[in-house]
Amino acid sequence: MKAVVTGGAGFIGSHLCDHLIAHGHSVVALDDLSTGSESNLVQLSGNPQFELVKGSILDARLVDEVIAESDTVFHLAAAVGVHTIVDRPLQSLHTNLNGTENVVAAAARRRARFMVASTSEVYGKNDTDGLTEDADRILGSPLKSRWSYAAAKGLDELVAYIYGEETGLPCVITRFFNIVGPRQTGRYGMVVPRFVSQALGGDPITVYGTGAQRRCFGSVFDVVPAVVRLLETPAAYNRAVNLGGREEVSIKGLADRVTAMTGSSSRIDYVSYEDAYGEGYEDMQRRMPDTSLAHSLIGYEPQRRLDDIIASLIDHKRSGDPDARTAAAA
Ligand code: UDP
Repeated sequence: MKAVVTGGAGFIGSHLCDHLIAHGHSVVALDDLSTGSESNLVQLSGNPQFELVKGSILDARLVDEVIAESDTVFHLAAAVGVHTIVDRPLQSLHTNLNGTENVVAAAARRRARFMVASTSEVYGKNDTDGLTEDADRILGSPLKSRWSYAAAKGLDELVAYIYGEETGLPCVITRFFNIVGPRQTGRYGMVVPRFVSQALGGDPITVYGTGAQRRCFGSVFDVVPAVVRLLETPAAYNRAVNLGGREEVSIKGLADRVTAMTGSSSRIDYVSYEDAYGEGYEDMQRRMPDTSLAHSLIGYEPQRRLDDIIASLIDHKRSGDPDARTAAAA
């Protein structure tokens, strides 16, 4: 495989680069380093099968050049994290819409296999137990920038799907449900690395809302091999496929678990959604995937339990992650 990974310096992207290189493929990572970091790729530097190109997916010419030599494109570059979306709505929208179109168009010209990373956010406020891929989308007002990520990712799916239909582009849409692991930063919102940094730094753990909202966290180590297998499975082409974990926890329950596993004496601070994200923020009460489609296509069975996922982040942050050092110094 001659793969391009957009967002290759990001959390999931860098693990995907590791996995592809470990399996003998060659990889070009394209990343503007806006939220990704070169430090996520130090282990690959000097490897002749790997190259990092620093640039934006908004630069259509660069995207074309990078993809011209490839046969497989994994598109993970995006503006991510609730804080990013709420703080910089226009730039996020621009990247997630126009950037994706550049990447899909280049992949289609090259006739490369194409995967686009989507999100459980596309289901919006639908909090049915066990969301299947055909579940209804229940989005809030288009005039609330909180929904811009969900709206843009929904359009990304459509763009990929329509290219697939009209040009025969072999494409897979993966919907990630709260994927967690080493190298994930809490800076842009993601709750598990935030709680782990707060607990290790002895800072208050910031639970937003009542903490009764529930999530089902999945491991990056389960999801990355699944993404590659899906792209090698023609029955998955032109479909959206849920990927995530199976163990549900409340956010207050997560805070308690992180505190116990780090041995921290941090207290819990309850923060209103308004203080956390600004006025009018609507949170999902529950987001639980049904991953039976992934199971039927590629035998997907998430192996890591929530405690394993939390433990891997604690180890990573204890071994010198910049987020942990910042929290400890604060
Ligand atoms: N959350 C929290 N404290 C934080 C960050 C997030 O309580 O410091 C909550 C957030 O409101 C949501 C859940 O944790 O209910 C998961 O948030 P995240 O941003 O990780 O993912 P989401 O599921 O919202 O996309």
